[in-house]
Amino acid sequence: MAITLNSSLQFLKSIGPKRADLFSSIGVNTVHDLLYYFPTRYLDRSTILNSDKVIKFVASGYNKDITIIGKVVDTEEIRFGKSNIYKVSFKDDKGFFECVWFRGIKFFRNRFKEDDYYAISAKPVITKYGHLQFAHPDFDKLDSEESLNFRNTGKIIPFYKIPAELKKQNLSDLSLRRVISTAVEQSIEEITETLPPEIISKNNLLNLKSTIRNKHFPESTGILERANYRLKFEELFYIESLIALKKSSTKKLENGIKYKIDVPLVKDFLNSLKFKLTNAQLKSLHEIRLDMENGAPMNRLVQGDVGSGKTIVALIALLIAVSNRKQTAFMAPTEILAIQHFYNLKNMLSEFRINVELLIGGQKAKEKKLTYDKMANGIPAIYVGTHALLQEKAKFSNLGLVIIDEQHRFGVAQRSSLITKSSTPDVLVMTATPIPRTLTMTLYGDLDVSLIDEMPKDRIPIKTYLRSDSKLDKIYKFIIDSVNKGLQAYIVYPLVEDSDKLDLKAAESYYNELNNSVFDNNNVGLIHGKMKWDEKKEVMQLFSDKEFDILISTTVIEVGIDIPNANIMVINDAHRFGLSQLHQLRGRIGRGAEQGYCILVTSDALSKKQFDATFNFDYLSDAEIQKNKTIIRLNALVNNTSGFTLAEIDMKLRGPGDIYGLKQSGLPDFKYANLVEDQEILLEAKQLAFATIEKDPKLSSSENEIIKKNLKLFYKDNFHYSNIA
Ligand code: ADP
Ligand code: MG
Repeated sequence: MAITLNSSLQFLKSIGPKRADLFSSIGVNTVHDLLYYFPTRYLDRSTILNSDKVIKFVASGYNKDITIIGKVVDTEEIRFGKSNIYKVSFKDDKGFFECVWFRGIKFFRNRFKEDDYYAISAKPVITKYGHLQFAHPDFDKLDSEESLNFRNTGKIIPFYKIPAELKKQNLSDLSLRRVISTAVEQSIEEITETLPPEIISKNNLLNLKSTIRNKHFPESTGILERANYRLKFEELFYIESLIALKKSSTKKLENGIKYKIDVPLVKDFLNSLKFKLTNAQLKSLHEIRLDMENGAPMNRLVQGDVGSGKTIVALIALLIAVSNRKQTAFMAPTEILAIQHFYNLKNMLSEFRINVELLIGGQKAKEKKLTYDKMANGIPAIYVGTHALLQEKAKFSNLGLVIIDEQHRFGVAQRSSLITKSSTPDVLVMTATPIPRTLTMTLYGDLDVSLIDEMPKDRIPIKTYLRSDSKLDKIYKFIIDSVNKGLQAYIVYPLVEDSDKLDLKAAESYYNELNNSVFDNNNVGLIHGKMKWDEKKEVMQLFSDKEFDILISTTVIEVGIDIPNANIMVINDAHRFGLSQLHQLRGRIGRGAEQGYCILVTSDALSKKQFDATFNFDYLSDAEIQKNKTIIRLNALVNNTSGFTLAEIDMKLRGPGDIYGLKQSGLPDFKYANLVEDQEILLEAKQLAFATIEKDPKLSSSENEIIKKNLKLFYKDNFHYSNIA
């Protein structure tokens, strides 16, 4: 039977129905799927050294992973103290080397057979007997023919992830390689190109057939790089096309509100402030104003580091909308932040006859009902709240502007649910999580972006220190001294907002302990997520009014809280927080004209591992970075105040996906591209995608047919994301 791209895998030689089922379980059903089942790594002759070279390298101080190939000559198990060591000796053209295992011996004992060839990768050492040794290495079995071939011809060998179940069925690397090789030979000609020819030629891309072939069996590392480039480019191009389509379809809508700007009102408001807006704030404001005056609905992201002054920009937009007799929703991710915004807005707008209402889950039903009624009756006001604003009962009848503060704390789904709730209000989302530019382009690619890239002038950069918990007494003394000078301090514990009673008890016991000992003579407050909303409100009010000198807190204060007189923050167990979370927390201080101090408290051992300010972790290998993640994170914070720099570091440490909501964004997963490493490819792909959609917004021209077809094919699950479906 002839094999085609759509054939089930069971018809391939040495697969059969049983193995085919196992492949199905990882989503590989057809020959086509198998062609796209790419290797996870390669063994490349140019990176392989003979044992004599390795010994010289190690002797001269080289201490990174190395790959070497050898034939097994002996295996033995040696008694060593209470346990055993398993040792395998190898031979290559230029000498001998050995691999040792101290743990999991059972697993290795029967693996290595004499005369088998292996590729071994690990950090080499030289033992006191002068032997070249690798401890707990990665290893790949090679067949002798292959390994010889490989040496002689310089072929690059692919390694695939073989699911555990298939390994149990004795599907070896070797046999999988053979199966795939056959599939490539028999079916590659059937593969149809997925990018338009002009894009391929203009960007000098490898065509799809060579890409697939070389991804499995690269003729050279150079061509493998081109294959990788093509796959990444294509992936990013299609994702960016999806985003461009979405953006162009919202842009087209002309049913937005054309606001009239009451210029004297805005001027009066600006004059009532104690400060002048920064140029970056003015620029964002100008962009927002143009959007609001325009008939197309606003869809804008205001991005600015913590403390850059986003609230005031939002406030002016709210002022404009309400003075046009519209309802506005101002949504915050936590009750504490919503409450703060509510009081601030009320305060600042008291002279301007603007209604400000609060809606949060913790309110009494009666109170909420009053607000619901106002909403339903179309009363123009600023409705400040949490996701309570999204509830069924909250029915706006005249919604003109939605502002979402700290957008990264909400899922994208929530963003759109508010937006579709009424006709088409203007939407402004604000985020302080500084996101690397590439990610902004992807995650918020359908939004226009205003960047507040300038801090108010009077700010002094916060000084950050890493200290051992054995120094807490000194730290407390520093707090008391500062408090005596009229400043205020936060002491934060790593308790999560929604966690159980135990955490709550812990927060309370810290509070009792400190309040009754070192801070005996100070006024100390406590705030945590389990409090009722009016209790939270009261504590924040008391802290804001300087009735408390010190506020002991969980991470409930992480986002948005703005008390400029509080200038010291002690973060306990700082190693338990993520980088962006630490930056957000730290952003609570240094908001006024005083020097801010942030003290990261951690275990003694960790605090001793400080790197100096010039330390650059680009010099570390990936493995070393992973091993030292915690201390790198803490040092990054000590040495940087820019959220954008920290975000880049964070992405390098953690990968982009899970931190910034890419997973919940409704965008497809990235299979090939990496948003940290592939920024340039992304830029090119984005430009091309946006230019294409701008010229042909419905992808109706014949040369773009292929793009439209593949978009539907690749992203049928994500297609709701765009509106051309
Ligand atoms: P974020 O961008 O983190 O939301 P906020 O809007 O809370 O920051 O502003 C931080 C603090 O800076 C607030 O106390 C605010 O009143 C103040 N602020 C905002 N703009 C300016 C400015 N142009 N000059 C001085 N202070 C400002
Ligand atoms: Mg804010």
